[in-house]
Amino acid sequence: MEKLYWQNDASDEALRGKKVVVVGYGSQGRAHAMNLRDSGVDVAVALRPGGPTWAQAEQDGWKPIDYRTGMAGADLVAMLTPDMAQPSVYREIEPQLKKGATLLFAHGFNVQYKQIEPRADFDVVMIAPKGPGALVRRQYEEGSGVPCLLAVHQDTSGKGFDTALAYAHALGGTRAGVIQTTFSEETETDLFGEQAVLCGGVTELIAAGWETLVEAGYQPSVAYFECLHELKLIVDLIYEGGFARMHEFVSETAKYGDLTRGPRVVDDHVREKMKTILQEIRTGAFGAEWVQENASGRPNYKRLLDKDLNHPIEKVGKELRANMAWLKAQRKPANPNRQFAAVGERK
Ligand code: NAD
Ligand code: MG
Repeated sequence: MEKLYWQNDASDEALRGKKVVVVGYGSQGRAHAMNLRDSGVDVAVALRPGGPTWAQAEQDGWKPIDYRTGMAGADLVAMLTPDMAQPSVYREIEPQLKKGATLLFAHGFNVQYKQIEPRADFDVVMIAPKGPGALVRRQYEEGSGVPCLLAVHQDTSGKGFDTALAYAHALGGTRAGVIQTTFSEETETDLFGEQAVLCGGVTELIAAGWETLVEAGYQPSVAYFECLHELKLIVDLIYEGGFARMHEFVSETAKYGDLTRGPRVVDDHVREKMKTILQEIRTGAFGAEWVQENASGRPNYKRLLDKDLNHPIEKVGKELRANMAWLKAQRKPANPNRQFAAVGERK
């Protein structure tokens, strides 16, 4: 088993006396800034004046600084704007930063695909929480934490690892385990996971199952409960205790159907496609495509997102969920600004 770092392996020493500046106050930025502040780290938030999250930061008690002019005092800069906005943000802050500063990322995309080539005197590290920002904050408040990946890309000071681990510690990550990786491994596995399994794979599996039932004449809401709603109950069991726990809870008939039919749905053909998708990530083809898509105003992204959001399962789901009282509290998106706005569209 790979080495994991827990609370006893870490301390805040490497951050003592250091000024941390979190650039961006969205999903990750807010969570990082708040958790670090509550852990006693000297932290500030840097934003674009008039940007959509400036008011939110003020509400949370920050006096945001303008990242175009206010970065000179930073010892560590956490780059927490959207990945596609980071290269232009970096160009603005680089000339202001002191020699030997640390640049910290929460995802390796821009370093891996050379959209940002950090100055040679910087330490360049990554702490990538394996969960959305809202959870990074909530679990910290509850006394638990979200596991983090740690990587060191450039270690000019020789203290890059210690700085990154201290940051993960202050974020609450060492409560759940911190594992060391590289920028390549984090970037490639993260992109693969969200494309093939977590976001892309799961939603397509849900939609295909639902369409199959509805096209065969079954009621859309029955198909919704079967192919979407129940997924959470199954995933919760797998999350708590792996495949074994799911097998303990489902019927013998469900188990037999799983074992004999599952491999027929996710067959070698699907595995081949997964390998191709991984290749596109590893060669940089996906990264280049996404950068290009942004540069041209995201025409495909918008069209495809529209299609996803207008899928008939969304209409059925909306009606059914409106009556599920327990969902009401969770209905607000973590950061409404980030939901559908393209980077270029943000004011
Ligand atoms: P986000 O979209 O939630 O936050 C964006 C923040 O950046 C906001 O403050 C916004 O006002 C600001 N911003 C947006 N466009 C800007 C621009 N053009 N110039 C300057 N500022 C701009 O971002 P996020 O999802 O928290 O992602 C931040 C980083 O964390 C990314 O590297 C991402 O890959 C990584 N990450 C995200 C998650 C997640 O769950 N969202 C998980 C792990 C890692
Ligand atoms: Mg999809």
